[in-house]
Amino acid sequence: MPEATKSPAPALTEEEFARRFAEINPPFTPQEAVVEASRCLFCFDAPCTIACPTHIDVPRFIKKIFSGNLRGSASTILDANILGLSCSRVCPVDVLCQGGCVMLRYNKQPIQISRLQRFAMDAFYSRPWPLPVATSENGKQIACIGAGPSSLSCAAELRRLGYGVTLFDRQSMPGGLNTYGVAEYKFRPKDSLKETELVRSLGVQFRLGEEIGTATPVERLEEQFHTIYIGINLGPTQPLYIPGENLEGVIDALSFIAHYKTGHAAVGRTVLVVGGGNTAIDAATAAKRLGAERVAILYRRGEQEMPAFRYEFEL
Ligand code: SF4
Repeated sequence: MPEATKSPAPALTEEEFARRFAEINPPFTPQEAVVEASRCLFCFDAPCTIACPTHIDVPRFIKKIFSGNLRGSASTILDANILGLSCSRVCPVDVLCQGGCVMLRYNKQPIQISRLQRFAMDAFYSRPWPLPVATSENGKQIACIGAGPSSLSCAAELRRLGYGVTLFDRQSMPGGLNTYGVAEYKFRPKDSLKETELVRSLGVQFRLGEEIGTATPVERLEEQFHTIYIGINLGPTQPLYIPGENLEGVIDALSFIAHYKTGHAAVGRTVLVVGGGNTAIDAATAAKRLGAERVAILYRRGEQEMPAFRYEFEL
């Protein structure tokens, strides 16, 4: 590879970084939210709720936005899903709740459920109130390995049932994928940390910078906790098993995303992304925003076979 191609793109100033990674889905204004909520048919046996993996009562929280009861709306969301904020930003709603909206059967735009959910969640986090926890402890202690979305959800559910919960993570910040792995223009670490603080406020303990299996043997957890939950979903990316993949300048997409999200934004002038999934799109679009002059995605099959969602591809 010629040296000019390998040389890094110039570093961005803080302002330029903020501009290039500005949110791609701006929030609703209060007026827009009420108008959009008024379109909902508040379906009985709502297909959007059925399509939501956490079964948030969608018509209920939308109706509460419509009537101005934002506190009730946020409670409806958080009762079903403590990660209601991150889900409103990163869920692939076109194939979940919005994809199930009955409006589509009438060739109308589906209700913008994710933006309404975000509206309710932003209202909650602008002035959060304490969420209910169990009134009595049951004396059982649970260890969750990993402090990402899986363990955070597990911990919140268990605290509501009166369990003592401790989350372990090798990273210095909690949140896992939400903090380190989601494209910056969709969800920022500071917003991810709001969610982890909400989980902490339920009485969940965090032990960060502590890797289980090295610094802390798993046997020690077995001695100290009744149950261990393993929530380590963010594993290494798939190696290519080709010569050169360990050379300087070759990096897995999740590390690349984590680096630029934590202030270590460096990218070459020419970037080749291997793979056709959503993470590949995140890496390619980030490389372009970071200043790469040429970015290409290399995928072994055709455009139609790419596993990335269509809107990601369009992005
Ligand atoms: Fe509202 Fe659509 Fe859900 Fe019906 S399916 S309740 S219209 S969001």
